[in-house]
Amino acid sequence: MLLSENNYLCNQIQLMIQLSDRLLAMEESATIAMSRKSRELKAQGLDVISLSLGEPDFHTPQFIKDAAVEAMEQNYTMYTPVPGYDDLRESISEKFRRDNNLTYDKSQIVVSTGAKQSIANVVLSLINPGDEVIIPAPYWVSYLEIVKVAEGVPVVINAGIEKDFKISGADLEAAITPKTKLFMFSTPCNPTGSVYTKEELQDIANVLKKYPHIVAMSDEIYEHINFIGKHESLAQFPEVYNQVVTVNGVSKAWAMTGWRLGYIGAPKEIAAACDKVQGQFTSATCSITQRATIAAMKADPSVLKDMIAAFKSRRELVLKGLAEIPGLIANQPGGAFYVFPDCSSFFGKKYGDKVIHNSDELCLYLLEEGLVALVGGESFGAPNCFRISYAASEETLTKALSRMKEAFAKLS
Ligand code: PMP
Ligand code: GLU
Repeated sequence: MLLSENNYLCNQIQLMIQLSDRLLAMEESATIAMSRKSRELKAQGLDVISLSLGEPDFHTPQFIKDAAVEAMEQNYTMYTPVPGYDDLRESISEKFRRDNNLTYDKSQIVVSTGAKQSIANVVLSLINPGDEVIIPAPYWVSYLEIVKVAEGVPVVINAGIEKDFKISGADLEAAITPKTKLFMFSTPCNPTGSVYTKEELQDIANVLKKYPHIVAMSDEIYEHINFIGKHESLAQFPEVYNQVVTVNGVSKAWAMTGWRLGYIGAPKEIAAACDKVQGQFTSATCSITQRATIAAMKADPSVLKDMIAAFKSRRELVLKGLAEIPGLIANQPGGAFYVFPDCSSFFGKKYGDKVIHNSDELCLYLLEEGLVALVGGESFGAPNCFRISYAASEETLTKALSRMKEAFAKLS
């Protein structure tokens, strides 16, 4: 058969293929879409500054890389137990005890291919079609879409900038219905950087304990990137410990985004369910990554202090730059490496004959006019805001802010 005939046949087959409703209902990850777009523009020779992806610009510490090399040399190259090597889970159990004062036995820990898969495992393990999942907005983009794939119903509670983007126990309780199955949030939060205090978590725990059938997924992947004090975990309150799944991972603090390792500490039954899901989907995450993570888990988190100090000084730089753009209102994030300013005063403004209606259009304008890639707030459930990831050098941030300032000034 001629190649052209073969292509023709492929096209015919493609036309007949119908993707699943589940897939069609799911949005592409906005963070990943924006970083792809800026990569494409860079490949075309444009000097785009990408502040779109939540990815540390530091390299993985050498002692972790050394552990990976050693693992390869020792032939850790085969399938591993589905929830992770025993000694890795023991080291995570010890980390939970050391850093979070949480007791999770090895059987309560499941290691996955990034915290993203940990979250997907939990949602797929718990959600039946029609179950409601309470998600405070602004939320991380993937929460809502993972819930939709599981045919759950996201119930979004809005937490505005005036509340430092956080919800109270009363806000949570107002959203609970007989169909509520899961509540999911992050602290420090992506995209706002907001950090829940112990008192605020206690307030949420006081509500949760009245509904023992509701599970709370507390995503604490940014725990170490905290500028305001000790990280607090929701699972620390004994009255809700059996209802909480604590999610964490090595991507952020240990600059290991490409290694793909996340984990949960959870009630035994939920951990066992996640183990079952994962056994069918991915078997486990990479054996070498798992060995390297043991080194990260055993390290004293004080080795991260220089990185945290660098993020803090970048936060000051970004907040100062944003304050010089009249019309933007920024929160003061307590952690993570994001700022999430409100840009709604620019809606209705024009560049040429194009009107900006929302933050996604504003981000497109800033990309085209200022060559700065950011992520619009729509996919974080907050269309009045946009996200800046300041995981970039101070030089890059200064340049980006000056381009943004210039582009904003052209809107009228
Ligand atoms: N949770 C939050 C809040 C995140 O920002 C991210 C993004 N990396 C993840 C989970 C997933 O992280 P990973 O899959 O890289 O471990
Ligand atoms: N979590 C990061 C972000 O929000 C990385 C991208 C992703 O996993 O969606 O940008």
